[in-house]
Amino acid sequence: MDYKLNSKILNLAPYEPISGDYRIRLDANESFILPDENMRQKIFDAAQTVLFNRYPDPLAFDLCRHFASFYNINYDNVTSGNGSDELITLIMTAFLQKGEKVLTFDPDFSMYKFYASITENPVLTLSKGDNLKIDIDNAISFIKSNDIKAVFFSNPCNPTAQGLSRDDVRKLINSTNALIVLDEAYMDFWDQSLINEVPKFDNVICLRTMSKAIGMASLRIGFAIANPVLTKALRAVKSPYNVNSLSQAIACVVLSDKQYLHNCIEKIKASRDNLYNTAKDICINRNDIKLYDTCTNFILIKTPNADKVRESFAKEGVAIRQLGGYLRITCSTDDENNEVIRLLKKYL
Ligand SMILES: *Cc1c(COP(=O)(O)O)cnc(C)c1O
Repeated sequence: MDYKLNSKILNLAPYEPISGDYRIRLDANESFILPDENMRQKIFDAAQTVLFNRYPDPLAFDLCRHFASFYNINYDNVTSGNGSDELITLIMTAFLQKGEKVLTFDPDFSMYKFYASITENPVLTLSKGDNLKIDIDNAISFIKSNDIKAVFFSNPCNPTAQGLSRDDVRKLINSTNALIVLDEAYMDFWDQSLINEVPKFDNVICLRTMSKAIGMASLRIGFAIANPVLTKALRAVKSPYNVNSLSQAIACVVLSDKQYLHNCIEKIKASRDNLYNTAKDICINRNDIKLYDTCTNFILIKTPNADKVRESFAKEGVAIRQLGGYLRITCSTDDENNEVIRLLKKYL
Protein backbone atom coordinates (compact mmCIF):
# COMPACT_ATOMS: atom_id res chain seq x y z
CA MET A 1 0.00 0.00 0.00
CA ASP A 2 3.04 2.20 0.07
CA TYR A 3 3.80 2.15 -3.61
CA LYS A 4 4.24 5.70 -4.93
CA LEU A 5 4.38 6.75 -8.57
CA ASN A 6 7.56 8.65 -9.30
CA SER A 7 7.34 12.37 -9.98
CA LYS A 8 7.75 12.11 -13.76
CA ILE A 9 4.59 10.02 -14.15
CA LEU A 10 2.65 11.09 -11.09
CA ASN A 11 0.55 13.71 -12.83
CA LEU A 12 0.57 12.34 -16.37
CA ALA A 13 -2.74 11.74 -18.12
CA PRO A 14 -3.18 9.52 -21.18
CA TYR A 15 -2.85 11.33 -24.51
CA GLU A 16 -6.33 12.37 -25.39
CA PRO A 17 -6.99 13.28 -28.94
CA ILE A 18 -9.95 15.60 -29.16
CA SER A 19 -12.86 13.37 -28.18
CA GLY A 20 -16.58 13.78 -28.54
CA ASP A 21 -19.18 13.70 -31.23
CA TYR A 22 -17.86 15.58 -34.23
CA ARG A 23 -19.35 15.25 -37.67
CA ILE A 24 -16.12 16.57 -39.20
CA ARG A 25 -12.61 15.83 -37.87
CA LEU A 26 -9.85 18.14 -39.01
CA ASP A 27 -7.70 18.09 -35.89
CA ALA A 28 -5.13 15.33 -36.48
CA ASN A 29 -3.74 15.94 -39.99
CA GLU A 30 -4.98 12.57 -41.22
CA SER A 31 -5.69 11.91 -44.88
CA PHE A 32 -9.34 12.36 -45.89
CA ILE A 33 -9.02 9.58 -48.49
CA LEU A 34 -10.30 6.08 -47.76
CA PRO A 35 -8.90 3.28 -49.96
CA ASP A 36 -11.01 2.87 -53.10
CA GLU A 37 -12.83 -0.36 -54.01
CA ASN A 38 -9.86 -1.85 -55.81
CA MET A 39 -7.40 -1.05 -53.02
CA ARG A 40 -9.84 -2.36 -50.40
CA GLN A 41 -10.02 -5.68 -52.22
CA LYS A 42 -6.22 -5.93 -52.35
CA ILE A 43 -6.07 -5.15 -48.62
CA PHE A 44 -8.59 -7.90 -47.81
CA ASP A 45 -6.67 -10.35 -49.98
CA ALA A 46 -3.43 -9.49 -48.17
CA ALA A 47 -5.11 -9.96 -44.79
CA GLN A 48 -6.12 -13.49 -45.88
CA THR A 49 -2.48 -14.50 -46.18
CA VAL A 50 -1.51 -13.53 -42.62
CA LEU A 51 -0.41 -16.39 -40.35
CA PHE A 52 -2.24 -15.23 -37.25
CA ASN A 53 -0.72 -17.88 -34.99
CA ARG A 54 2.86 -16.79 -35.77
CA TYR A 55 4.89 -13.84 -34.59
CA PRO A 56 5.54 -11.14 -37.19
CA ASP A 57 8.75 -10.87 -39.20
CA PRO A 58 10.94 -9.01 -36.65
CA LEU A 59 12.70 -6.84 -39.24
CA ALA A 60 9.61 -6.48 -41.43
CA PHE A 61 11.74 -7.20 -44.46
CA ASP A 62 9.00 -6.99 -47.11
CA LEU A 63 7.58 -3.83 -45.58
CA CYS A 64 10.95 -2.06 -45.51
CA ARG A 65 11.67 -3.25 -49.04
CA HIS A 66 8.37 -1.83 -50.35
CA PHE A 67 8.96 1.42 -48.51
CA ALA A 68 12.50 1.67 -49.90
CA SER A 69 11.25 1.00 -53.40
CA PHE A 70 8.56 3.70 -53.17
CA TYR A 71 11.15 6.30 -52.17
CA ASN A 72 14.02 4.98 -54.30
CA ILE A 73 16.29 4.26 -51.37
CA ASN A 74 18.09 1.19 -50.11
CA TYR A 75 16.39 -1.30 -47.78
CA ASP A 76 19.61 -1.50 -45.73
CA ASN A 77 18.95 2.00 -44.47
CA VAL A 78 15.40 1.41 -43.27
CA THR A 79 13.96 0.38 -39.88
CA SER A 80 10.21 0.15 -39.30
CA GLY A 81 8.35 1.03 -36.15
CA ASN A 82 4.91 0.98 -34.61
CA GLY A 83 4.28 4.50 -35.85
CA SER A 84 7.10 7.03 -35.93
CA ASP A 85 6.08 7.78 -32.37
CA GLU A 86 7.62 4.47 -31.33
CA LEU A 87 10.81 5.36 -33.19
CA ILE A 88 11.00 8.72 -31.42
CA THR A 89 10.78 7.01 -28.02
CA LEU A 90 13.32 4.44 -29.12
CA ILE A 91 15.82 7.09 -30.18
CA MET A 92 15.37 8.94 -26.90
CA THR A 93 15.87 5.84 -24.79
CA ALA A 94 18.69 4.21 -26.74
CA PHE A 95 20.72 6.95 -28.41
CA LEU A 96 20.80 9.28 -25.43
CA GLN A 97 22.42 8.57 -22.14
CA LYS A 98 21.04 9.65 -18.84
CA GLY A 99 21.02 13.42 -18.49
CA GLU A 100 22.21 14.22 -22.02
CA LYS A 101 20.58 17.32 -23.40
CA VAL A 102 18.01 17.45 -26.17
CA LEU A 103 17.15 20.48 -28.28
CA THR A 104 13.67 21.09 -29.67
CA PHE A 105 11.95 24.18 -31.00
CA ASP A 106 8.84 26.06 -30.06
CA PRO A 107 6.46 25.54 -31.69
CA ASP A 108 7.20 22.06 -33.03
CA PHE A 109 5.79 18.51 -32.56
CA SER A 110 5.01 18.28 -28.84
CA MET A 111 5.86 14.59 -28.51
CA TYR A 112 9.64 15.20 -28.64
CA LYS A 113 9.47 17.04 -25.35
CA PHE A 114 7.09 14.53 -23.86
CA TYR A 115 9.26 11.47 -24.57
CA ALA A 116 12.39 13.26 -23.36
CA SER A 117 10.65 13.90 -20.05
CA ILE A 118 10.00 10.17 -19.66
CA THR A 119 13.63 9.26 -20.40
CA GLU A 120 14.79 12.02 -18.03
CA ASN A 121 16.74 13.93 -20.63
CA PRO A 122 16.76 17.69 -20.12
CA VAL A 123 15.06 19.51 -22.99
CA LEU A 124 16.23 22.92 -24.12
CA THR A 125 13.89 24.80 -26.41
CA LEU A 126 14.59 27.51 -28.95
CA SER A 127 11.64 29.75 -29.75
CA LYS A 128 10.89 30.45 -33.35
CA GLY A 129 10.41 34.05 -34.41
CA ASP A 130 7.34 35.66 -35.96
CA ASN A 131 7.83 33.86 -39.25
CA LEU A 132 7.72 30.56 -37.31
CA LYS A 133 10.89 29.29 -39.01
CA ILE A 134 13.98 27.88 -37.33
CA ASP A 135 16.88 30.35 -37.31
CA ILE A 136 19.60 27.96 -38.44
CA ASP A 137 22.66 30.03 -37.48
CA ASN A 138 21.23 30.70 -34.05
CA ALA A 139 20.47 26.98 -33.59
CA ILE A 140 24.01 26.02 -34.62
CA SER A 141 25.68 28.26 -32.08
CA PHE A 142 23.17 27.24 -29.39
CA ILE A 143 23.94 23.55 -29.97
CA LYS A 144 27.67 24.23 -29.60
CA SER A 145 27.50 26.36 -26.51
CA ASN A 146 25.00 24.14 -24.67
CA ASP A 147 26.53 20.73 -25.33
CA ILE A 148 23.37 19.43 -27.04
CA LYS A 149 23.47 15.69 -27.85
CA ALA A 150 20.36 15.39 -30.01
CA VAL A 151 18.18 17.77 -32.01
CA PHE A 152 14.58 16.86 -32.84
CA PHE A 153 12.53 18.82 -35.34
CA SER A 154 9.91 18.28 -38.02
CA ASN A 155 10.39 19.43 -41.61
CA PRO A 156 7.96 20.56 -42.86
CA CYS A 157 6.88 21.45 -39.37
CA ASN A 158 3.78 20.41 -37.49
CA PRO A 159 2.18 22.72 -36.32
CA THR A 160 3.68 25.69 -38.19
CA ALA A 161 3.31 24.32 -41.77
CA GLN A 162 6.67 25.94 -42.56
CA GLY A 163 9.55 24.20 -44.27
CA LEU A 164 13.34 24.46 -44.14
CA SER A 165 15.26 24.18 -47.39
CA ARG A 166 17.61 21.25 -47.94
CA ASP A 167 20.54 23.64 -47.77
CA ASP A 168 19.53 24.89 -44.34
CA VAL A 169 19.11 21.35 -43.01
CA ARG A 170 22.45 20.25 -44.49
CA LYS A 171 24.13 23.24 -42.87
CA LEU A 172 22.74 22.24 -39.49
CA ILE A 173 23.77 18.60 -39.95
CA ASN A 174 27.31 19.47 -40.98
CA SER A 175 27.82 21.91 -38.13
CA THR A 176 27.61 19.40 -35.28
CA ASN A 177 28.33 15.93 -33.93
CA ALA A 178 24.97 15.89 -32.20
CA LEU A 179 22.38 13.43 -33.48
CA ILE A 180 19.94 15.16 -35.83
CA VAL A 181 16.48 13.61 -35.86
CA LEU A 182 14.83 14.96 -38.99
CA ASP A 183 11.11 14.18 -38.86
CA GLU A 184 9.78 14.31 -42.43
CA ALA A 185 6.21 13.26 -41.55
CA TYR A 186 4.81 15.81 -44.04
CA MET A 187 7.54 15.76 -46.70
CA ASP A 188 5.30 13.96 -49.23
CA PHE A 189 3.54 17.31 -49.57
CA TRP A 190 6.77 19.22 -50.29
CA ASP A 191 10.00 18.78 -52.25
CA GLN A 192 12.93 19.36 -49.90
CA SER A 193 13.44 15.82 -48.61
CA LEU A 194 16.86 14.59 -47.54
CA ILE A 195 15.72 10.95 -47.44
CA ASN A 196 18.12 10.04 -50.25
CA GLU A 197 21.05 11.75 -48.59
CA VAL A 198 20.74 10.84 -44.92
CA PRO A 199 22.72 7.57 -45.27
CA LYS A 200 25.73 9.71 -46.25
CA PHE A 201 25.77 11.49 -42.89
CA ASP A 202 26.98 9.85 -39.70
CA ASN A 203 24.64 11.79 -37.40
CA VAL A 204 21.17 11.81 -39.00
CA ILE A 205 18.04 9.74 -38.52
CA CYS A 206 15.20 10.70 -40.85
CA LEU A 207 11.67 9.72 -39.81
CA ARG A 208 8.76 8.99 -42.11
CA THR A 209 5.24 7.81 -41.40
CA MET A 210 2.34 6.13 -43.18
CA SER A 211 -0.10 8.16 -41.07
CA LYS A 212 -0.34 11.32 -43.16
CA ALA A 213 0.08 11.43 -46.96
CA ILE A 214 -0.14 7.63 -47.30
CA GLY A 215 -3.47 7.68 -45.46
CA MET A 216 -2.85 4.67 -43.21
CA ALA A 217 -2.85 6.14 -39.68
CA SER A 218 -4.81 3.09 -38.49
CA LEU A 219 -1.94 0.70 -39.27
CA ARG A 220 0.58 2.50 -37.02
CA ILE A 221 3.67 2.32 -39.20
CA GLY A 222 6.65 4.64 -39.23
CA PHE A 223 10.15 4.38 -40.66
CA ALA A 224 13.62 5.49 -39.68
CA ILE A 225 16.14 6.05 -42.47
CA ALA A 226 19.81 6.27 -41.54
CA ASN A 227 23.30 5.01 -42.35
CA PRO A 228 24.08 1.31 -41.69
CA VAL A 229 25.69 1.93 -38.30
CA LEU A 230 22.71 3.83 -36.93
CA THR A 231 20.30 1.42 -38.63
CA LYS A 232 21.97 -1.58 -37.05
CA ALA A 233 21.67 0.07 -33.64
CA LEU A 234 18.00 0.94 -34.22
CA ARG A 235 17.17 -2.62 -35.28
CA ALA A 236 19.06 -3.97 -32.29
CA VAL A 237 17.30 -1.84 -29.67
CA LYS A 238 13.73 -2.04 -30.95
CA SER A 239 11.43 -4.62 -29.46
CA PRO A 240 11.53 -7.64 -31.78
CA TYR A 241 7.92 -7.81 -32.96
CA ASN A 242 7.09 -4.12 -32.95
CA VAL A 243 5.10 -4.03 -36.21
CA ASN A 244 2.26 -6.55 -36.32
CA SER A 245 1.77 -8.96 -39.21
CA LEU A 246 -1.56 -7.56 -40.35
CA SER A 247 -0.14 -4.05 -40.63
CA GLN A 248 2.95 -5.33 -42.42
CA ALA A 249 0.89 -7.25 -44.98
CA ILE A 250 -1.52 -4.39 -45.66
CA ALA A 251 1.20 -1.75 -45.82
CA CYS A 252 3.12 -3.77 -48.42
CA VAL A 253 0.09 -3.80 -50.69
CA VAL A 254 -0.49 -0.07 -50.29
CA LEU A 255 3.16 0.89 -50.80
CA SER A 256 3.46 -1.24 -53.91
CA ASP A 257 0.76 0.73 -55.74
CA LYS A 258 2.82 3.79 -56.59
CA GLN A 259 0.26 5.25 -58.98
CA TYR A 260 -2.48 5.04 -56.37
CA LEU A 261 -0.32 6.78 -53.78
CA HIS A 262 0.82 9.52 -56.14
CA ASN A 263 -2.83 10.18 -57.01
CA CYS A 264 -3.75 10.38 -53.31
CA ILE A 265 -0.92 12.82 -52.61
CA GLU A 266 -1.92 15.01 -55.57
CA LYS A 267 -5.54 15.05 -54.38
CA ILE A 268 -4.50 16.09 -50.88
CA LYS A 269 -2.24 18.84 -52.21
CA ALA A 270 -5.05 20.15 -54.41
CA SER A 271 -7.39 20.17 -51.41
CA ARG A 272 -4.75 21.97 -49.33
CA ASP A 273 -4.27 24.63 -52.03
CA ASN A 274 -8.01 25.07 -52.31
CA LEU A 275 -8.45 25.47 -48.53
CA TYR A 276 -5.49 27.84 -48.31
CA ASN A 277 -6.60 30.04 -51.20
CA THR A 278 -10.19 30.41 -50.01
CA ALA A 279 -9.04 31.05 -46.44
CA LYS A 280 -6.69 33.69 -47.81
CA ASP A 281 -9.62 35.63 -49.25
CA ILE A 282 -11.10 35.81 -45.78
CA CYS A 283 -7.88 36.81 -44.04
CA ILE A 284 -6.50 39.22 -46.61
CA ASN A 285 -8.07 42.43 -45.34
CA ARG A 286 -7.69 41.63 -41.66
CA ASN A 287 -4.58 42.85 -39.89
CA ASP A 288 -5.56 41.08 -36.66
CA ILE A 289 -5.39 37.71 -38.41
CA LYS A 290 -2.52 35.95 -40.16
CA LEU A 291 -2.74 32.95 -42.45
CA TYR A 292 0.64 31.22 -42.92
CA ASP A 293 1.70 29.69 -46.19
CA THR A 294 1.90 25.90 -46.02
CA CYS A 295 3.93 22.98 -47.31
CA THR A 296 1.82 20.42 -45.41
CA ASN A 297 -1.77 19.12 -45.52
CA PHE A 298 -3.06 21.72 -43.07
CA ILE A 299 -3.34 25.47 -42.72
CA LEU A 300 -2.32 27.58 -39.74
CA ILE A 301 -4.08 30.76 -38.71
CA LYS A 302 -2.99 33.19 -36.00
CA THR A 303 -5.91 34.97 -34.38
CA PRO A 304 -6.39 36.79 -31.07
CA ASN A 305 -9.46 34.71 -30.17
CA ALA A 306 -8.30 31.24 -31.21
CA ASP A 307 -9.93 29.53 -28.22
CA LYS A 308 -13.35 31.06 -28.96
CA VAL A 309 -13.13 30.14 -32.64
CA ARG A 310 -12.19 26.56 -31.76
CA GLU A 311 -15.16 26.35 -29.37
CA SER A 312 -17.54 27.72 -31.98
CA PHE A 313 -16.30 25.16 -34.51
CA ALA A 314 -16.80 22.43 -31.90
CA LYS A 315 -20.38 23.53 -31.23
CA GLU A 316 -21.00 23.19 -34.96
CA GLY A 317 -19.58 19.66 -34.85
CA VAL A 318 -16.22 20.44 -36.43
CA ALA A 319 -12.99 19.47 -34.61
CA ILE A 320 -9.94 21.62 -35.30
CA ARG A 321 -6.74 22.00 -33.29
CA GLN A 322 -5.94 25.07 -31.24
CA LEU A 323 -2.40 25.73 -30.03
CA GLY A 324 -2.24 28.92 -28.00
CA GLY A 325 -3.14 31.75 -30.35
CA TYR A 326 -3.09 29.54 -33.44
CA LEU A 327 -5.62 27.35 -35.20
CA ARG A 328 -4.47 24.32 -37.17
CA ILE A 329 -6.98 22.93 -39.67
CA THR A 330 -6.41 19.80 -41.77
CA CYS A 331 -7.52 19.98 -45.41
CA SER A 332 -10.27 17.61 -46.50
CA THR A 333 -12.94 16.89 -49.12
CA ASP A 334 -14.50 19.82 -51.01
CA ASP A 335 -17.61 19.59 -48.85
CA GLU A 336 -15.66 19.68 -45.60
CA ASN A 337 -13.36 22.44 -46.83
CA ASN A 338 -16.44 24.48 -47.75
CA GLU A 339 -17.81 23.91 -44.27
CA VAL A 340 -14.52 25.20 -42.79
CA ILE A 341 -14.72 28.31 -44.95
CA ARG A 342 -18.34 28.92 -43.95
CA LEU A 343 -17.40 28.68 -40.26
CA LEU A 344 -14.26 30.81 -40.66
CA LYS A 345 -16.39 33.54 -42.25
CA LYS A 346 -18.87 33.28 -39.40
CA TYR A 347 -16.50 33.13 -36.41
CA LEU A 348 -13.10 34.53 -37.32
C1 LIG B 1 1.67 12.90 -37.23
C2 LIG B 1 3.12 13.08 -36.95
C3 LIG B 1 3.93 11.98 -36.74
C4 LIG B 1 3.33 10.62 -36.97
O1 LIG B 1 3.43 9.76 -36.03
P1 LIG B 1 2.96 8.24 -36.22
O2 LIG B 1 3.28 7.71 -34.89
O3 LIG B 1 3.77 7.65 -37.32
O4 LIG B 1 1.49 8.27 -36.55
C5 LIG B 1 5.27 12.17 -36.48
N1 LIG B 1 5.79 13.40 -36.45
C6 LIG B 1 5.04 14.49 -36.67
C7 LIG B 1 5.66 15.83 -36.68
C8 LIG B 1 3.68 14.35 -36.91
O5 LIG B 1 2.90 15.44 -37.10
